[in-house]
Amino acid sequence: MHTLKNYINGSWQDSRSKETIDVVNPATAEVLAHVPFGAQAATDVADAVAYAQQAYLQWKDVPVLKRIQPLFKFKQLLEAHKEEIAKTITMECGKTLAESYGELQRAIENVEVACGAPMLMQSEFLENVATGIDEYMIRQPLGVTACIAPFNFPAMISFWFLPYAIACGNSMVIKPSEKVPLTMMKIFELIDQLDIPKGLISLVHGGKQTVDAILDHPHIKSISFVGSTPVAKYIYARGTANGKRVQAQGGAKNPVVVLPDADVDMTTQIIADSVYGCAGQRCLAASVIVTVDNDATIKESLVASAKKRSTGYGLLEGIEMGPVISKQSKERVESLIALGVKEGGNLLVDGRSPNIPSYEQGNFIKPSIIENLPLESELMRTEIFGPVMSLVHMKTIDDAIAFINKNTYGNMACLFTSSGASARKFRNEAMAGNIGINIGVAAPMAQFPFSGWKESFFGDLHGQGKHAIEFFTQTKVVIERWPKEWSRKF
Ligand code: NAD
Repeated sequence: MHTLKNYINGSWQDSRSKETIDVVNPATAEVLAHVPFGAQAATDVADAVAYAQQAYLQWKDVPVLKRIQPLFKFKQLLEAHKEEIAKTITMECGKTLAESYGELQRAIENVEVACGAPMLMQSEFLENVATGIDEYMIRQPLGVTACIAPFNFPAMISFWFLPYAIACGNSMVIKPSEKVPLTMMKIFELIDQLDIPKGLISLVHGGKQTVDAILDHPHIKSISFVGSTPVAKYIYARGTANGKRVQAQGGAKNPVVVLPDADVDMTTQIIADSVYGCAGQRCLAASVIVTVDNDATIKESLVASAKKRSTGYGLLEGIEMGPVISKQSKERVESLIALGVKEGGNLLVDGRSPNIPSYEQGNFIKPSIIENLPLESELMRTEIFGPVMSLVHMKTIDDAIAFINKNTYGNMACLFTSSGASARKFRNEAMAGNIGINIGVAAPMAQFPFSGWKESFFGDLHGQGKHAIEFFTQTKVVIERWPKEWSRKF
């Protein structure tokens, strides 16, 4: 069993830490590797940053058209190695192979969009802001940047930031989740083949202490974080207190509203994929389904669909849902289901402790549905991060929107309807940053910002697209006076 290495200064290096934790396959309980952890691991950050700073000083003056050339090669390498990376995602994270391919595709799209940096970085120029005076704005890179990622998308999430940071002339240090570091190891084998300065992109393993070393390092100019809300708040507070630019995406509790004019079959299928996809471990997983003025049709349809979803090892064909990430996570989700029952919910489908032959050690929970939880109950406010649907019924679309707007999170809100007027009202009034109309996972494509609101995001500029270009550059305004009388007569 091997201990994972860091990637610093363009080569694989042992961590200073002898302390490690296990990387475990959540479907089989097999230990896949050991990952450096603890206080000593955090001391590796300084090495990575020292080389990243040198690489940045070299890279910032490389013309942007040249800076994107390695990204074209990166895209090709990612395409060529899709299968092995997707299998690694499934093995360490548990999602199905199709879901792993899907996540990788989203990662690649961000590389493609970042290749537009020569256009996206262009700025503004105004001649004669005053007589004989011109003014313009340029965008310059920040320096060493850092990315801290969560477990649920081992490949994709770093790509909301990495390609933009590099295209804009920065260097980047990435700390993957200690639960799923193997995917990034595979991706760094590809980064190792790129023609870029050594140290430009580094990988440092670890947990909280490594994060703290990143937050406190004076040469790190920005932090891009994705994870749970309590940690996002902490990262934002400590990072900004240290004078860094911070974008911190947090957790969610996503409501989906179904109007009586929605197509039942389509709605059922899309909602089931949203609630149970990636075993509910998506920040855009639908969590609370609100039916408005509905008969029992949609409820019966959702129950039938939950009962027939095939759950098992994500590498096997025909499997629609894998395990949750860890034993602790399984225990937590199952205890939240029990809490829901205690709080007065009606457990329509109970997916706890399922029998998955040959995978008895896996962290499986089957789809579960709890109906009619009191709106003020704890479970209605808690991010479950497992395959659990809460189903509630309301009289009007206004009741549903008022419910959404009370939500402390604001990552996503979706509506299912065949009425354009209802869709328009919802889009306008629902207070969440990513809105879906007849869409169950309103994940912005790479051209658009991933726009969480409220407790789902701390900061200003989001990941992806033009926001990422703005985040990874600082503006400089130049005002110039060239008096006419100075022009030479030739
Ligand atoms: P997490 O917050 O536990 O961990 C995220 C990262 O922070 C990891 O790299 C981890 O090592 C580090 N970390 C953990 N605890 C820390 C601490 N106390 N101090 C400093 N660093 C710490 O999140 P997770 O369990 O890996 O991921 C799931 C969460 O991420 C969910 O809440 C989910 O909604 C959220 N998420 C949000 C988005 C989004 O776009 N808003 C996307 C994906 C996941």
